[in-house]
Amino acid sequence: MKVFISVDMEGITGLTDPEDVLTDGADYQRGRVFMTQDANAAILGAFDAGATEVLVNDSHWVMRNILLEQLDPRAKLIKGFHKPMCMVQGLDESYDAAVFIGYHACAGTEGGVLAHTLLGKEIHNVLLNDEPIGEARLNALMAGHFGVPVVFVAGDTAACAEAKKIVGNDLTTYAVKDGIDMFTATCLHPEVTKKGIREGVRHALKGKKRKPYKMKGPYRFGIEWNTTTIASTCAYIPGVKKVNSRTSEFTTGNLPEAMGLIFAELMLGLQAGQKKIYG
Ligand SMILES: [Zn+2]
Repeated sequence: MKVFISVDMEGITGLTDPEDVLTDGADYQRGRVFMTQDANAAILGAFDAGATEVLVNDSHWVMRNILLEQLDPRAKLIKGFHKPMCMVQGLDESYDAAVFIGYHACAGTEGGVLAHTLLGKEIHNVLLNDEPIGEARLNALMAGHFGVPVVFVAGDTAACAEAKKIVGNDLTTYAVKDGIDMFTATCLHPEVTKKGIREGVRHALKGKKRKPYKMKGPYRFGIEWNTTTIASTCAYIPGVKKVNSRTSEFTTGNLPEAMGLIFAELMLGLQAGQKKIYG
């Protein structure tokens, strides 16, 4: 059994603030330890359930967060930012299940701890056929393209609720913290969440076979940016157009192509969005 684990950071045990998850943040180095521990708990659960191969994709920001030397040596780690499939890089048809760890809710979710979609500052909303789509749904859709079901999600309460809404109420989830505000949460201790994630992953992989999350194309992906200049810059890409002053959009029937285009837009958005905030 081959298991793919995508690990984001905002939904990791105990992390509630940009200081915990940004590379220059005061508590970032501690955050990396917590992130590696949650990943390890999931790896343990996968091997408990009979996994023969586990691939971990570091899915947060610079994607160089997980501490390799502290990671369970039975797993392999994809590290680095430049990858077209972004948070699901490495996933293909050969995998039996996908597990999402450290996930957060879609941009604008009430009570979602560090909630955003792909970029916290530059992006107001990612849209699929005009509907806001969060990272859990986007990545579940990509996994579904390869015929791989998402079987377990860990994050804050809002992220878990969002994942259930997408792939089904019977999805096994584990909430490591409960949001009070975007930057405030009631947190469980790492020793507690380690058990919860391990047991949750084991249970999910041993349970009834889940269906991959699929949706019929074509897919019209929009990104509502925080500035008009980013939308204009993205529209330089052939096939991408500006549909209003702040929104770029493209349509495709090919999901990996969509992920690659979104990734290219992210790179442009980061570049074109470098002006300081003023007011
Ligand atoms: Zn994220």
